[in-house]
Order: sequence, then C-alpha cells, then structure tokens
Amino acid sequence: MPKATQSIAPAVRRYVYHRDRGRCVVPGCSFGGFLDVHHLNPPAEGGGHDPENLVTLCEGHHTALHRGQLSIEGSPSTKLRFLRADGTEYTDPPSVRAIAVGEQVFGALRRLGFSERQARSAVRRVLETAETLCTATLLRAALGVLTAPRG
Ligand SMILES: [Zn+2]
Ligand SMILES: [Zn+2]
Repeated sequence: MPKATQSIAPAVRRYVYHRDRGRCVVPGCSFGGFLDVHHLNPPAEGGGHDPENLVTLCEGHHTALHRGQLSIEGSPSTKLRFLRADGTEYTDPPSVRAIAVGEQVFGALRRLGFSERQARSAVRRVLETAETLCTATLLRAALGVLTAPRG
C-alpha cells in the first residue's frame, strides 16, 4: 500500500485560509495566531485534500479536537456544527458550574491587574476548550492566553 500523502497543496491551503477569513472556525474563537488546517474526514480514513474536507483551526481547538474534546459535523460550504465531548453545541449557553468557575477565574485575573476586557476574553477562551472545571487549571490556562505573543 502506498504511503498516504499528508501534504496539502499550497493553493488549496491558501484557499481554505481565506475562506475561513484567516481565523479559527470554532464559534467565539476567531483566534488568528497559530493556525492549522484540519481534515474533517481523516486522510487515514479516506479523506482527501479537498477544501470541503478542510477547516482552519487554532492550535488549542485542533488539539482539543484530536483529543476528542470537540467534534465537528457538517461541511464548510453548508454548515458546520461544533460539539463538545458531552454532546452540547458550542453555541449552547455554558453550564451553571462553568459560569461559577469562570467568575472565579475572572476575579483572579482582575486582581492580577488585567483589564476587564482582557480577563473576559481569556475566560471565554479557556472555558471553550476546558478539559476540566478546576479553577486553578483554568486560571493557569487563562494566564497562558494573556501572556502569549500576539500574532
Ligand atoms: Zn487535525
Ligand atoms: Zn480556536
């Protein structure tokens, strides 16, 4: 069996990047930093390098997806659906527990001197890819987001 090619033609990669406006496609993310192109249907399972099979994801969401914490259904030309591991959609309101933990992390960031806007966006971002609702872990992740170089 021939070795499957993992490379996407530069023109296709550019097309996908522009179609996704150079941003992660996960709702509410819009992260334009370290972006990856992901195969909705993995090449190992017969998926090709067709733009319909490719989406732009940030590093965090790409990792979350391959860890099974996030799944994407549908196709870029029609509609993509983003599901968390528990089956809820990314557009669904967060759980009461997530809101409570988010408030704690937000408060901690404010006490550390971050602006309300910075703290709010960092909290939103870490809650989206949260593996756990542990306040300390999320605070560390939020600090990582806030101190990461801007791209
Ligand atoms: Zn991928
Ligand atoms: Zn993202």
